[in-house]
Amino acid sequence: MPTLSFKDRVVSVALTRARELGFTTVSCASTGNLANSTAAIAAYAGLDCCVFIPSDLEAGKVLGTLIYGPTVMSVQGNYDQVNRLCSEVANTHGWGFVNINLRPYYSEGSKTLGYEVIEQLGWQLPDHVVAPLASGSLFTKIYKGFREFVEVGLVDDKPVRFSGAQAEGCSPIAQAFKEGRDFISPVKPNTVAKSLAIGNPADGVYAVDLARKTNGNIESVTDAEIIDAIKLLAETEGIFTETAGGTTIATLKKLVEAGKIDPDETTVVYITGNGLKTQEAVQGYIGEPLTIEPKLDSFERALERSRTLDRLEWQQVLV
Ligand SMILES: *Cc1c(COP(=O)(O)O)cnc(C)c1O
Repeated sequence: MPTLSFKDRVVSVALTRARELGFTTVSCASTGNLANSTAAIAAYAGLDCCVFIPSDLEAGKVLGTLIYGPTVMSVQGNYDQVNRLCSEVANTHGWGFVNINLRPYYSEGSKTLGYEVIEQLGWQLPDHVVAPLASGSLFTKIYKGFREFVEVGLVDDKPVRFSGAQAEGCSPIAQAFKEGRDFISPVKPNTVAKSLAIGNPADGVYAVDLARKTNGNIESVTDAEIIDAIKLLAETEGIFTETAGGTTIATLKKLVEAGKIDPDETTVVYITGNGLKTQEAVQGYIGEPLTIEPKLDSFERALERSRTLDRLEWQQVLV
């Protein structure tokens, strides 16, 4: 994934189709990662590019878009306002918006995250999937990818439970699931998980339906739990995820603790973006390097000091 999130999959499908359809300018409404991918792949494909983002995004996501040389519109509003504006621009300018007028192709790209899991499990389905929810597209298309491989006979069918992850500060899908509703009540997002901050998710009802019919769950977690989970994944697996992955790991933990995931189930957890993109989220929670002089005794003193303070104490010192 050249721009360090799974959005490279969806955008490569959408822009391939955009070129076939004859679009010369491509665009998107983005919570950050989509803008990175659209700008990068448009550059490669030789298409003009203009992307729209909310103005409060992480620095890494803005820089990671600007580097490819697109026009970037930083909109003073949240994602849902950006999305509304883009629907109007799509109508008036005839541009190819990957997640609006090209959305059917964009969402099909997420099926590859289903295909490759089957392949990596040795041509088997898992028992349980835990994945993050923004618009709900990825979640439902992993399912579609699984179904297609069953239909063409590449893998034996069996029930797979689908559980979704949201941040409490933007959890319209989790709320609808918990309250047994068939509709989504839009919310105003306020969470560190900005890549998942869609208050009015287009595929929300389908995500609720999928979790229900597969006997899964949809949970939400706090920003503090998200940050702890980012550290947990890094310290135990050597994987540094962005906040969306923190949301998913924190949800996994919650579901396991509640007995909703059996430890004997084969559970696949989707980590969808790289932690270098959301460094702000963990700044101040991860300690600092020990600064020393280039001398052996300075090193020995620092080593002694670091051994007398255990990890927990370090965290308290630094918070
Ligand atoms: C976009 C995104 C998602 C989820 O997207 P959907 O809109 O639900 O398909 C998950 N993780 C990351 C890192 C993303 O950028």
